[in-house]
Amino acid sequence: MAAACPCGSGASFAGCCRPYLRGEADAPTAEALMRSRYTAFVRRDAAYLASTWHASTRPLDVAEGLDEAEWRGLEILGTTDGLEGDDAGTVTFVAHHATGAISMGQHRETSRFVRVDGRWQYVDGDLS
Ligand SMILES: [Zn+2]
Repeated sequence: MAAACPCGSGASFAGCCRPYLRGEADAPTAEALMRSRYTAFVRRDAAYLASTWHASTRPLDVAEGLDEAEWRGLEILGTTDGLEGDDAGTVTFVAHHATGAISMGQHRETSRFVRVDGRWQYVDGDLS
């Protein structure tokens, strides 16, 4: 049985985020990009995170801090625009994580995405 995709879509990794992380396909929507970036956080794929981070807001060291959280699940709460015909959109999500052995937390954010040269990129987000 194929491994489930870490993003929680219900699809297999091979049939969901893997083609995006490998650069074999571009995420068609802001939500798909958001899911693939969550999967990249789970897999500590700094190169993919850097490649999908808008140049204006990308940290100098994307890998910094990547090892600190254990990600336990993603819930997409809502989206605005960000579809195949759009150039911008937002995705609101909760990402559950454990830090250390016992501390559980969640990261809730409304993220902004724009399309640059046909490819969705993460710009920034508001914590909520
Ligand atoms: Zn996925």
